[in-house]
Amino acid sequence: MPMNEGPKHQTAPPLLAVADALDRILNGLVPSDTEICKLQDVRGRALATDIAARLSLPPAAVSAMDGYAVRAADCPAPGARLTRAGESAAGRPWNGSMGKGEAIRIFTGAVIPDGADTILLQEDASATGETDGATITVKEVPRKGQFIRPAGLDVSAGDMILTAGTVMSARLIALAISAGHTEASIWRRPNVGILSTGDELVPPGGTPGPGQIISSNATYLASFIAACGAVPIDLGIARDRPGAVLSCVRAAPAPLDLVVTTGGASVGVHDHIVDDLSASGTELGFWKIAMRPGKPLIHGRIDDIPLLGLPGNPVSSAVCANIFLRPAIARLSGADHHPQMIAARLAIDLKANDRRQDYLRATLDYDSQGRAVVTPARKQDSSMISIYAGANALVVRPPFDEARQAGDMVMVMPLDPLL
Ligand code: AMP
Ligand code: MG
Repeated sequence: MPMNEGPKHQTAPPLLAVADALDRILNGLVPSDTEICKLQDVRGRALATDIAARLSLPPAAVSAMDGYAVRAADCPAPGARLTRAGESAAGRPWNGSMGKGEAIRIFTGAVIPDGADTILLQEDASATGETDGATITVKEVPRKGQFIRPAGLDVSAGDMILTAGTVMSARLIALAISAGHTEASIWRRPNVGILSTGDELVPPGGTPGPGQIISSNATYLASFIAACGAVPIDLGIARDRPGAVLSCVRAAPAPLDLVVTTGGASVGVHDHIVDDLSASGTELGFWKIAMRPGKPLIHGRIDDIPLLGLPGNPVSSAVCANIFLRPAIARLSGADHHPQMIAARLAIDLKANDRRQDYLRATLDYDSQGRAVVTPARKQDSSMISIYAGANALVVRPPFDEARQAGDMVMVMPLDPLL
């Protein structure tokens, strides 16, 4: 055997890359039913169908300013005079046909009268009065066509304005409403069951006895899942004995689209999720993922419900929720989730990374010139919820990333301020 076997990572068992794990998780997930929802209720939810405009915006040519609707040919030079023949206000169009030498008083959003081709700005004219018959004198010659918004400038009836899978924001709701819609077909919110596992866990509010801790993961996940637009369903705490996971899932108070467990993801004698999954007679993935925190992850189906088994350590579980659960919920909701990444300057030096993609808990800030600066926390222990709670970003370091120095640029995933 050669003396030099190369770097240690070449001989260690392979780990599943984060992107591959995510692909496999998403592959098995599809949204189920749709429902018709009022547009005012759809913020954060994904459209199940495309939406075409029912109306054109604006529906007719309208004025962009207050002034006079004129023919440019009647305003050849300063001093040209026109006679006011009517008024077009928003919601009260003038229905006549404008003759030569005439001007129609007009206001922003009002329909352009037949025969007019230009808006003479109010401040570029003087008027002898605000009544019909008044003389309007041109002070500043208008450019032909100025300040007219043609019909359909913004949206034309029949245009595809939104595509299926779009997650609706307040501004997209405004667009759909403007184009004549009041409702949309939306994917139903998925029901996500949350199951904690462990003999050491005491429900929140309880008093931990010797060796016990408060179960915090389920509350974090319930909040996270709700913020992602799904319905969290509490499945309680499964104790570390065979069959407990299966019976908690079967006791769910509602049909589930996904089960998320925490803990018990190792292969210790007290970790029974894997056995329970096998007992439920379906496919099972027990993965070691090339990431830190969050190496062990379980993926499979329990009674044919997709299951994602997150690690027990609170920070690992939370980071995995950001990386895997959020896109999974998006997929079940008919949308795609792509985490926003930004480049930021490192505030401290970092040693070379090993074969696992690292998600360093960090503080993202901006210097006096508005440049993003990121400071990874000194302690990166995946059991330390206080460090994660104080972070507002994760520095994402790819496997084998070289040593970095303060001032180097790194990729950062800002954490959702409410998650
Ligand atoms: P396990 O994967 O079950 O060995 O859990 C790993 C670590 O996470 C242990 O220290 C557990 O006590 C902790 N842990 C597991 N579940 C929870 C939970 N629901 N809330 C807080 N900590 C947990
Ligand atoms: Mg456990």
